[in-house]
Amino acid sequence: MDTKAFKRSLQQSNNYHRKGFGHENEVMGTMNTEYQSSLIQKIRENNYQWQEGDVTIKLAEAFGFCWGVERAVAMAYETRQHFPQEKIWITNEIIHNPSVNQRLLEMNVGFIEVVNGNKNFSVVETGDVVILPAFGASVTEMQLLNDKGCTIVDTTCPWVSKVWNSVEKHKKKDYTSIIHGKYRHEETVATSSFAGTYLVVLNFKEAQYVCDYILNGGNKDEFLEKFKNAHSEGFEPDKDLMRLGIANQTTMLKSETEQIGKLFETTMLKKYGPTELNEHFMSFNTICDATQERQDAMLNLVKEDVDLMVVIGGFNSSNTTHLQEISIEKGIDSYHIDSEKRILPGNKIEHKPLEKEIKTKENWLPDGKIIVGVTSGASTPDKVVEAVIKCIFEEKKANILV
Ligand code: SF4
Repeated sequence: MDTKAFKRSLQQSNNYHRKGFGHENEVMGTMNTEYQSSLIQKIRENNYQWQEGDVTIKLAEAFGFCWGVERAVAMAYETRQHFPQEKIWITNEIIHNPSVNQRLLEMNVGFIEVVNGNKNFSVVETGDVVILPAFGASVTEMQLLNDKGCTIVDTTCPWVSKVWNSVEKHKKKDYTSIIHGKYRHEETVATSSFAGTYLVVLNFKEAQYVCDYILNGGNKDEFLEKFKNAHSEGFEPDKDLMRLGIANQTTMLKSETEQIGKLFETTMLKKYGPTELNEHFMSFNTICDATQERQDAMLNLVKEDVDLMVVIGGFNSSNTTHLQEISIEKGIDSYHIDSEKRILPGNKIEHKPLEKEIKTKENWLPDGKIIVGVTSGASTPDKVVEAVIKCIFEEKKANILV
């Protein structure tokens, strides 16, 4: 399918909206009440530090809602206001945050259910309104909704669209898109749907494997087995790794995306020489500023003298997980939680260690005076961060009283 032509014709349709409906001011008021926090504002003004009793909180200097997320949530609120009677659906969680998604459910916005690994679009009828989330939707989904005669409200973040444009450019010039991402993540699923030939690499190690194959050859069957589900149909490593373009899932670790880009560039340079490089490699900067700022702020926070770190965000939030990775790499005790409800009485916390199931840790707050580093992913409202900080203060006080 000519995905570019389809996108262009969709954007010209009267049933397609990507700019809101003119209710920004009312919606902003509601969102501020529901998601902003006066405590967090005070902490920001107090040089990102706050002390209460034995606990000092150190906040990262960039954290929480990014503008892409704020824009997507505001558009969803506006959609409800603009279509008060219509059935409204979202093709996925609007963002990876349980409290925001819960709020939309309360506003009678339905989530398309996944049944046996597939989304059940049979519930959507002609005339229904369907919101596409901040990380986008695949071209197949867009086409299906368009064919059904739905009104589409597209909240895809412009940074994500920028990546889609990059893979379209790769496709046009017959380059294979190497996508640094998680092949199951909704954003990467959407990005690969716009790509022609593609291969998704999860990390530097996988990129090294591919580069080694490019330079030295290898076992094709092993290659295809290793990347099964992570490449385009009919992918042929011996033929499809000769001209490469780099793309990324916007929420991956920035430094890793850069390293991977460099590695492929050097590999193609070794293989084809400097005069031929441009014929075999292309790269555009598509690392999102918000992801970059949050990761840089976390890199600064882990240099501080903190006793432990609390990272707040949905458990399926890729950018939150990467913040957690930075902390763990520094050897700091780090707890990834999705809300204040994970902090339990009796000095316990339910948290998700990296790539493991949720577990409970006892005595997680040490005795005496402590410094707790706090950050949150791009889909976490300040209100949730405030609730977590208040719980830490209360829990620490309660422990002293025991
Ligand atoms: S993290 Fe970046 S790409 Fe993702 S929604 Fe926010 S601004 Fe957009």
